[in-house]
Amino acid sequence: MKDRSLLMIPGPIEFEPAVLQALGAPTTSHVAPGFIDAFGRALENMRQVWLAPEGQPFIVAGSGTLAMEMAGANLIEPGDRALVLSTGVFGDRFEDLLSRHGADVTVLRAPIGQTLDFNRVEDALKGGGYKLLTVTHVDTSTAVRMPICSIGDLARRHSVLSVVDGVCSVAGEEIQQGDWDLDVVLTASQKAIGVPPGLALLVASQRAMEAFSARSTPVRSYFADWEKWLPIMAAYEGRKPSYFGTPAVNLVAALDVSLRQIVDEGMTARFARHELLAGAFRAGVRAFGLDFVTTEPDHRANTLTACRYPEGVAAADLLSAIKHAGVIVAGGLHPEIKTEYFRVGHMGAVRMADILATLGAIEIGLRSVGCAVAAGIGVAAALEWQAGNED
Ligand SMILES: *Cc1c(COP(=O)(O)O)cnc(C)c1O
Repeated sequence: MKDRSLLMIPGPIEFEPAVLQALGAPTTSHVAPGFIDAFGRALENMRQVWLAPEGQPFIVAGSGTLAMEMAGANLIEPGDRALVLSTGVFGDRFEDLLSRHGADVTVLRAPIGQTLDFNRVEDALKGGGYKLLTVTHVDTSTAVRMPICSIGDLARRHSVLSVVDGVCSVAGEEIQQGDWDLDVVLTASQKAIGVPPGLALLVASQRAMEAFSARSTPVRSYFADWEKWLPIMAAYEGRKPSYFGTPAVNLVAALDVSLRQIVDEGMTARFARHELLAGAFRAGVRAFGLDFVTTEPDHRANTLTACRYPEGVAAADLLSAIKHAGVIVAGGLHPEIKTEYFRVGHMGAVRMADILATLGAIEIGLRSVGCAVAAGIGVAAALEWQAGNED
């Protein structure tokens, strides 16, 4: 038996062999012609993946939290007002982060598992004076997906910059940064982008870059300062060598491979695949009789699912039984319900076979903790869903 398991957590995910090969290739100089070309191409392909033809992409070594910090550090000056729309742990993270950069932060918090009521957002914005709002597209602690297609419009009407935390959505859930007029859409390499952890990725609108240029105080983070990184991105895109901080050479090479695969698949097809597989997975979960943390069916994410444990089942027992059956899923994350649910990631290179294997492993797990489940019921429901929804 091969000693391997299927990693079905909301990042890091399973990666394509070609991406891992690029990661394992001999490291080159950060100014080697081949690397300059890979970096430049990755920046160009980010615009296609983000559907942001006019956007300014940034690739910087770090995690998703650094991408969040880059947005906050560059767009906030001390005393600026910021509105945080929170649907879970990652929304709350923005409150702390923006405060560190001197923002006067107001948080609108949704009940756990629900989206935020847009009337509340509109009312808050009417109070006026906000420079920036943040929204978490998919909050990985609740699997709630916020409807962000109208956020740009809302932001325009109130002259606010919009920052979208797309760490658990970019390249998995539909985002059209350009058409939806979103100012910053940020992510990290290890989620639906499909590259091992280590890169912070974001695309900023021209409006965001102008707001940055109009600052009257210096950015308080040396490393996150766009002033430092903008010439670097411009140089790589113009296929010229440059240096500020050494780029994560192998990760950028791997990113280049992954972005090319994503562009080849096509964004419409990629979003549709995530939607189909998420639907199939949820059909299987429902067949087991499990509930979802995300209460509104239309707002359940396509990149991960948050499933409540059956009554009386101990979290650790079920998770280790699923792991024993060959699939790794994640525990709860939201502090208020942490012990009540588990999370399954289904993004990036995921395919139907992974969904079926995961449902099979969950079935084995459920049975081993004493739940009565009919043989194959989850897998059958997922296959039925697929048959009924594939075009
Ligand atoms: C994972 C995640 C983050 C944090 O990213 P790190 O790479 O862990 O720093 C932020 N927001 C969301 C929605 C995430 O899923």
